[in-house]
Amino acid sequence: MTFDPLIAATHSLGLMAISGISFGIIQRKVKTPFAMSAIVGLVFSTAAILAMLQPWELSPGVYLDARSVIVGLAAAFGGFPAAILSVLLVGAARIAIGGVGTEYGVSGIIACAVLGYCWRRLFWTEHAHKPRHLIGLGGLLALHAVTVFILPIRLAIDLSIVMVPTLIVSSFIGAFIMGSLIERERKYLQTENHWRQNASTDPLTGLPNRRAFAAALDDITPPRSPLHSGVFMIIDADHFKTVNDTYGHEAGDAALKHVAECLRQSVRPGDKLCRFGGEEFGVLIPSISRSLIAARAEDIRRKVAENPVVFEGRTIHLTVSIGVAQRSGPHVTAFHSMMRDADLALYKAKATGRNCVSVSDDPHALTRDHPSNVTAGASLTHPRGTWKKPRRP
Ligand code: GH3
Ligand code: MG
Ligand code: MG
Repeated sequence: MTFDPLIAATHSLGLMAISGISFGIIQRKVKTPFAMSAIVGLVFSTAAILAMLQPWELSPGVYLDARSVIVGLAAAFGGFPAAILSVLLVGAARIAIGGVGTEYGVSGIIACAVLGYCWRRLFWTEHAHKPRHLIGLGGLLALHAVTVFILPIRLAIDLSIVMVPTLIVSSFIGAFIMGSLIERERKYLQTENHWRQNASTDPLTGLPNRRAFAAALDDITPPRSPLHSGVFMIIDADHFKTVNDTYGHEAGDAALKHVAECLRQSVRPGDKLCRFGGEEFGVLIPSISRSLIAARAEDIRRKVAENPVVFEGRTIHLTVSIGVAQRSGPHVTAFHSMMRDADLALYKAKATGRNCVSVSDDPHALTRDHPSNVTAGASLTHPRGTWKKPRRP
């Protein structure tokens, strides 16, 4: 009695399980889709080649193992680069092994890659696939059983009675077991991403929250030149308590969303924007010419002041006060001291009547090239009289 089929099947199943678990690790570690696909191709190809080392030898030079199914799964879950890479690597390994079944072996590998990729094109979703999708994948991969007839015809007829059912069953089992493991990993990762996103996003405005903002600061690069500064602004809605008291909390929420939208429209690519909490927002500009700082803050102030929010037919005029801190050179990374300066500047903006911008001095600047910055917290813009305290309807 021979145990070859049993040993080959156990060996292949083990390799499939390891590949399925590796898929989750690759998804977590590799960020770009191309690199991810290429690494899936490499890992699955290694598993397929290892499967060929413990085959069931049906007849001299004709082997049965899980290589083709693993290649099919690489194409289905890894995508095009994974499909190409696994065909090349596993195909080359099969050619190197040689024997009468070489053409059949290589054809099976190519067929499974094509069938797996077709499944991906037809059924791929970013969400978890259902068991019926995996059974469908098994069904498609099972079609590669016809490659048996690439063997010399007498041999094909003799062996097909064993090979065709074995290839069909192994396609279904492989797709289901390995597919389920991969799907489980994808589901874990999606849940993880969902919670990470939740933990870093403000639910009301959809802006990054303070935690995400602090994390983003790690990537901040110093300003481009000595004439550039890193800038941090605190933007605080004026008399917001009165807005809530006058129009209700729901209107207040709508107003905050509106302010967030105005800010989104005002920031440029590379700027970081967040809701700090309450009616306070933060904008970080990693590098801006010092002569433009006041104008950028003023643009934001004007955008909010000139675009009232309409809530349930009522127009709510909003204004914001903006405290601006700036740092030149590498000091831009000293975020906490920048925040303190911005807070002080904001305090001045509030004290001088609100709906204005106050730019704090840069303690590290070599040149004080902005006329308004001679004293810390100089109020640059202050269009008095534009803000009207909301009246109770
Ligand atoms: P100031 O011009 O000095 O900033 O006055 P203010 O009324 O804006 O400031 P204060 O700190 O007294 O009040 C902030 C208000 O913002 C109180 C709070 O009810 C409101 N607020 C904070 N978060 C939310 C929110 O998520 N939704 C709504 N609707 N209101 C909020
Ligand atoms: Mg406030
Ligand atoms: Mg306020």
